[in-house]
Amino acid sequence: IIRFDKVTKRFGGNTVLDDLCFSVAPGKHVTLIGPSGSGKTTILRLLMTLTRPDEGTITVDGEYLTHEERRGRLVPAGEKHTREVRKKIGMVFQQFNLFPNMRVLQNVTEAPVHVLGMDKDAAEQRARELLELVGLGTKCNDYPTRLSGGQQQRVAIARALAMRPRVLLLDEVTSALDPELVAGVLDVLRDVARTTDVTMLCVTHEMNFARDISDEVLMFDAGRVIEKGTPEKIFSDPEQDRTREFLSAVL
Ligand code: ATP
Repeated sequence: IIRFDKVTKRFGGNTVLDDLCFSVAPGKHVTLIGPSGSGKTTILRLLMTLTRPDEGTITVDGEYLTHEERRGRLVPAGEKHTREVRKKIGMVFQQFNLFPNMRVLQNVTEAPVHVLGMDKDAAEQRARELLELVGLGTKCNDYPTRLSGGQQQRVAIARALAMRPRVLLLDEVTSALDPELVAGVLDVLRDVARTTDVTMLCVTHEMNFARDISDEVLMFDAGRVIEKGTPEKIFSDPEQDRTREFLSAVL
């Protein structure tokens, strides 16, 4: 559902992604791991179209994100095209980024009503279902500041899912949380993984998170995928020295 084909991204003279190829199959839960600065966040930023690749193409759900076809030729995508493809993608950030002046329910209904043009009652019903899914059915009328960090992150997950994305991007979603709140968020993500068909692409420094949630782990180094496999394989029997070194430093 996601395909990076020979993607290169440079910042000045710094080549952050180098001829990068990888893909994520529909419904899979894939985690990117690797040293700081290896380009993981840049991948998510490219998918969110916060930045553009210098070379190569990115496809989401069968459509070019970065390009569009005009008269049989591939040209850089216009804003309208990008916006349409972007609607297939939801994102949850490290800092939850909830709207502080809106109650929990409205945080979840805001975008479906104003961006997708969904009927308000239908959006509310869906929001209540999602808040139930993330264990916050009783918190609909609270303001986010009254909730713990873990609860706020669960609202952020419900809010992202309310847009019915085909792909959910998770950027270090547990790293701003107190350790005792991490398990609750992980449980919710495991439920989401089990009960929805959303494809997940996660970036994390937390190897337990990667192990728990993933069908596949991609090990990144210097802007390339140097190894990929099931979490069991990557964490217990990696092929590459570089992966072994990295894991022994972080585990
Ligand atoms: P971390 O695990 O620390 O978040 P990362 O693997 O996510 O690291 P990126 O944030 O993708 O790595 O950054 C990769 C490289 O790109 C770094 O060297 C960073 O300094 C550089 N970089 C990222 N964004 C920019 C930018 N907007 N301008 C210049 N350089 C950038």
